[in-house]
Amino acid sequence: AMLAEGLRAEATIDLAALRGNIASLRERVPSAALMAVVKADAYGHGALPCALEALAAGVRWLGATTPEEALALRAAGIAPEQARVLCWLWTPGGPWAQALRADIDVSISGQWALDELLDAVRATGIPARVHLKADTGLGRNGCQPHDWPDLVDAALRAQAAGQLEVVGLWSHFAAADEPGHPSIRAQQEAFAAALAYAERAGVRPEVRHLANSPATLLLPQTHYDLVRTGLSMYGLSPVPEVASPADFGLRPVMSLSARLALVKQVPGGHGVSYGHQYTTPGDTTLGLVPVGYADGIPRHASGTGPVQIGGKWRTVAGRVAMDQFVVDLGGDMPEVGEEVLLFGNGERGEPMAEDWARACGTISYEIVTRLGSRVPRRYV
Ligand code: PLP
Repeated sequence: AMLAEGLRAEATIDLAALRGNIASLRERVPSAALMAVVKADAYGHGALPCALEALAAGVRWLGATTPEEALALRAAGIAPEQARVLCWLWTPGGPWAQALRADIDVSISGQWALDELLDAVRATGIPARVHLKADTGLGRNGCQPHDWPDLVDAALRAQAAGQLEVVGLWSHFAAADEPGHPSIRAQQEAFAAALAYAERAGVRPEVRHLANSPATLLLPQTHYDLVRTGLSMYGLSPVPEVASPADFGLRPVMSLSARLALVKQVPGGHGVSYGHQYTTPGDTTLGLVPVGYADGIPRHASGTGPVQIGGKWRTVAGRVAMDQFVVDLGGDMPEVGEEVLLFGNGERGEPMAEDWARACGTISYEIVTRLGSRVPRRYV
């Protein structure tokens, strides 16, 4: 897809690829449902269009982090009959009454959150649908094993009182993307123990869920009733050193292009961009790419980020600035306005998000999620 006429930069979001990725994931997950994780504006891809595409592909669960993200999906018209929406980060003082009115599933990791939820239940008269989250070893959100029985018992008392229904039991992996990491086995065992306690106590969960993308792709024994896929749905590999997206039948959904804003000849010894981190080694041409860290291009890409111009790979020369960066074109004189491919699905030989991640010492999750709101998204 060519960058639309007149635009400085544009992200293309390939919804057909998203749909294809969902189909590929379904094949790998024959017995569990798929949750489309659309938090953080669908990792920069646009929460609403991606959610709608996922629904069109038959997905019936959407995953969000904040209640605001979950409410926005409902406000945009995604009805409870179309999709369950789970919001998994409890924010003290958050819009919980509104969340209940909007039929959003909530996650509870501790008694304090349960107390606040029950206040909202009393205020609205609407019973909550609750997923209890166990910390099976991530050490982040979730209920510690020693508090789990009390939390489960308290939730069951509230259920008996008609205030809520425990519909989910769940947890999250710390290192599912590192095959063989000892935490994987330990977390699976801790999850089994948390489930066993809750089920003995009388919880009849509609869904037990543990797997994120790496677990979905690599650890079929962790699929349970529902897998929560984000990165893989967007066509990126959670284990780029081990397997490419294509190895999993996935295709990157996001491409980022910009238009060369200036091409000029400079002599050798010319400093380039802030701090003169790069100096031209001889007579050459420089191209100005009009995107910078305000657009989500990491400043860590200074001197390392790859782009493709006229079929050739070039590297960011000197520092990435807020709105622009420079590439050394090595004497080539492409036209001003020529398309610069920053990353895409690789079909044109261009870099992929993973190449940027490697160049910046980060993960592809961050490359796509950071894409700034100043960059228009075009849906194809
Ligand atoms: N589940 C939870 C709780 C998450 O926070 C995330 C995202 O980090 C996911 C699932 C999706 O992870 P992935 O993008 O690896 O599929």
